[in-house]
Amino acid sequence: MKYTTLDIFEQTPETLAAWCEAHGMQRYRAAQILEWVYAKGAADPAEMTNLSVADREILAEEMTFRSAHIVADRQASDGTRKLLVQWRDQGDDSGAVMPVALDAARQTECVMIPTEKRRTACISTQIGCPVGCRFCASGMDGLSGNLTAGRIVEQVHLLSQLTGERISNVVFMGMGEPLANLDAVMHAARIISAPWGLGISGRRITISTVGLPRAIRRLADELDVPATLALSLHAPTDALRREMIPWAKYATIAELLDACRYYFDSTGREITLEYVLLRDENDRPEHARELARIARTLRCNVNLIRYNEVESLPYRRPLSRDVRIFQSVLTNAGVMAHIRASRGRDIAAACGQLRRGSIHDKGV
Ligand code: SAH
Ligand code: SF4
Repeated sequence: MKYTTLDIFEQTPETLAAWCEAHGMQRYRAAQILEWVYAKGAADPAEMTNLSVADREILAEEMTFRSAHIVADRQASDGTRKLLVQWRDQGDDSGAVMPVALDAARQTECVMIPTEKRRTACISTQIGCPVGCRFCASGMDGLSGNLTAGRIVEQVHLLSQLTGERISNVVFMGMGEPLANLDAVMHAARIISAPWGLGISGRRITISTVGLPRAIRRLADELDVPATLALSLHAPTDALRREMIPWAKYATIAELLDACRYYFDSTGREITLEYVLLRDENDRPEHARELARIARTLRCNVNLIRYNEVESLPYRRPLSRDVRIFQSVLTNAGVMAHIRASRGRDIAAACGQLRRGSIHDKGV
C-alpha cells in the first residue's frame, strides 16, 4: 500500500461518491463503504465483502483507513483506557507495523471513559497545544501541529474498535485547543454526529475551549450540530486567570461570557463552565463566591475538576474538604455545580500526561 493523503474519515457521502466515480467504481459503493466503516466498525477494505476484489484493492491502495499507530495502550483499574498514538507521516509505509522511530511531535492521546450508562471518548484536536496553561501537561512543549478532521474522527473509531464498545459521548477535551483548529473541529463534529457517520447526537458532544470569543461566535453561527460548549474558566477574576492561562490576555471574562450568551441564544444549549481546582490558588470560598456571581449571569452548569498533578509542575490537587466547601458555596447561591469524577489517575489520564511520560522515560 502506498501513502495517500485522502483519508476515509474525512469523507462525506457526496465526496466519497465522487471519489468512487473517479476511480471507476459505482457511486452507490460510497454508502456501502461508509456503512462498513461506521456501522460495522471496519478499518480494512479486505473486510468489505460486498465489494468486488478489484474495488477493495483500489480502496486499499488509494484511501487511508488508519493513520494512527498505537504507541501505548493503558487500562486503568476503573476501566478507563488511554491510547497514545503516533500519526503517520507522508514518508511512512502504511503497512500495519510501524517501522519508524517514536516521535513525540507526531503523538496525541485519546481516552475511553466508561461509566454505568456512558462510553465517552475524549479526543485530541492538536499535537501539543499553543496555549500553554501553567498547570497543563499538553502545552508544555508548545504546538507541533493541527490534526485533520479525519484524524479527529479516527480517534473515536479507533477507541470503539479496540474496546468493542459503541461510543455514546464525545468530548473534545484531549490535547490541544479545539477553537484554534476550528474548521477541522467543525467538520469532525459533523461526521461524528451524522447518521451515516458515527451517529452520536450533537447533544452528546462537548467542545471545550480556553475561550476565543470570535471563534465561539463562529461556532454558534456555523456549526449545525447542537454541541455543548464548555468554557475553561478556572478563575473568577481576569488577574488570576491571566496568571494561569497565557491566552487570557486576549479576552476578558466579560467578553467570554458575552460570547457564551451568544452561543446559548443561537443554539439553546446551556454552557458548561469548567473550573479546575488548584490547591490554595483558586479553591478558596471567596473564589467560589465570585464564581457564583459570574455563573448567575448566564444559563450554565459548573463542572468542578480536581487537579491531576503533573510532574515538574508546582500545582497541587485540592483537599476534598475544600472541594466540598467550594461546591456548597455555589449550590447555596443557586448555581448547579458538579464535581467531576477523577478517572484513570493510575494511568496519567489527564491530557498530555502520557505523552510527556513517553518523552521522558521513552519506551512506554
Ligand atoms: N484546550 C481546551 C480543551 C482541552 S483541555 C481547554 O482548555 O478547554 C480540557 C480540560 O482539561 C480543560 O478544562 C483543562 O483545564 C483541563 N485540564 C488540563 N490539565 C489538567 C490536569 N492536570 N488536571 C485536571 N484538569 C486538567
Ligand atoms: Fe491547551 Fe487546554 Fe491544556 Fe490550556 S488546558 S494548555 S488550552 S490543552
